[in-house]
Amino acid sequence: MRRIDLIVIHCTASRPDQHLTLGMLDQMHKARGWKCCGYHYYITRDGQLHFGRPEEMVGAHARHYNAHSIGICYEGGLDEKGRAADTRTPAQKQALLTLLVSLKQDYPDAEIVGHCELEGVHKACPSFPVSELRVQMKQLWEKRIHKAAEDLSE
Ligand SMILES: [Zn+2]
Repeated sequence: MRRIDLIVIHCTASRPDQHLTLGMLDQMHKARGWKCCGYHYYITRDGQLHFGRPEEMVGAHARHYNAHSIGICYEGGLDEKGRAADTRTPAQKQALLTLLVSLKQDYPDAEIVGHCELEGVHKACPSFPVSELRVQMKQLWEKRIHKAAEDLSE
């Protein structure tokens, strides 16, 4: 297994009227000369989780960081006018959180970051502050610890 210490969140940077299936993403990335979709997970607007590259395979989503990271992408990230915007649907937010909880179980030391937080990246991707997600994850974690302690004391 490769060492994973980063989970990087991306958006497709597409407008609300554009629908991108995993197949289309796959084609776009192949056109760039990649083997297949560069992300490991893709979440469409309907909240559906699609499997891109297997986790053991190095991704193609964050230059200089691919070797030890997992790449997650959600469909959207631009408003009608093409400006960066958090367009995540409630279903997408839920799917993202569920996926992150599961990944954190497999890679407890992995840090969750937005693409734009990586050094040298000058993009708005993923169009929302991932720090919010980190807070949410921390709260979920504390709730779980709390629950476990309660169960033990019963
Ligand atoms: Zn990105």
